[in-house]
Amino acid sequence: MFAFEKKLMTISELCERLVSVRDSKKVVACSGSFDVVHAGHAMMLEEARAQGDVLVVFLNTDESIGLYKGPSRPVIPFRDRAAILASMVAVDYVIPLDALTPLSLIEQLRPDIYFNGADWGDRSVERTLVESYGGSLRVASAHVRVSSSSDLIRAIKDRADVPTARGIFLDRDGVLIQDRGYVHTPDEVELMPGVIEGLNMLRDAGWQFYVVTNQSGIGRGMYSTEAMERTHAHIRELLAKSDITIKTFYYCPHTPEEGCSCRKPGVGMLIQAAKEHGIALSRSWMIGDRSSDIAAGRLANMKTIAVAAPGTEFADSISVPDAFVLNLEAAAVHILGSQ
Ligand SMILES: [Zn+2]
Repeated sequence: MFAFEKKLMTISELCERLVSVRDSKKVVACSGSFDVVHAGHAMMLEEARAQGDVLVVFLNTDESIGLYKGPSRPVIPFRDRAAILASMVAVDYVIPLDALTPLSLIEQLRPDIYFNGADWGDRSVERTLVESYGGSLRVASAHVRVSSSSDLIRAIKDRADVPTARGIFLDRDGVLIQDRGYVHTPDEVELMPGVIEGLNMLRDAGWQFYVVTNQSGIGRGMYSTEAMERTHAHIRELLAKSDITIKTFYYCPHTPEEGCSCRKPGVGMLIQAAKEHGIALSRSWMIGDRSSDIAAGRLANMKTIAVAAPGTEFADSISVPDAFVLNLEAAAVHILGSQ
């Protein structure tokens, strides 16, 4: 049993519970559906609790909400709404409200104060009853109307319609092309086995491709950015023959000594790509042949594949990939098989 469950009971159990304290404690009650609980609810309940010593929440059952808000509500079932409310410090008791108004529950409990949300105001149907036995009705300050469950539901609906982009992030040397060490001329470029086959399969499944490559040769003065660009243009040409497109080549031109955030295992290039293309990294894959590739992918919350012999031990202890494959074709099979 969770501690909060002690706050859940029926109206008759509550009345019995409160008999001995009615003379010394001021009982406050409020009611609502509290469907999709938000910060405005938390503020309203805290304000309600401050009116007295005990706060009782009459919580609409699923059936009663369906009657006044329509069959699409509630979003969150009674048991869960009750658990959330009962977990709040401000709330002392949660009682099911299985009617369109709380009049019957108010009649039984006779709270000293009945607290209304700002949207109901002080002209509610409860006023006459509460005042008839000497209680009083109070209304929440307007400032608690910071948002509403309906606003939140609309926002969730809007966001659900926005497609989430995902990407395949490829290391260059040793994954896309043969690693000959500081490749920087078109002549040196040779695609790795399985690249065309693998990228074809992934493109047909709707994936988009990005290259993320450490190019410290630029920082070391071994070749120019232009030479690298020409090399990448040549890779694009080779892939274009099979209708394969790399959306963007990201590269880090720095040497390790410069301590930049883009050089893998840094995640700078991955974060830049995520921002520029609206990509969800947790739904994307990093494919590399080195510990720094796998570490960068894992630090960016991506799924990772090592193009390496099964069980290859990488120096870095965080560099444990989700899978080992022999080439990009096998990587594609793994990715398509894990969806
Ligand atoms: Zn860098």
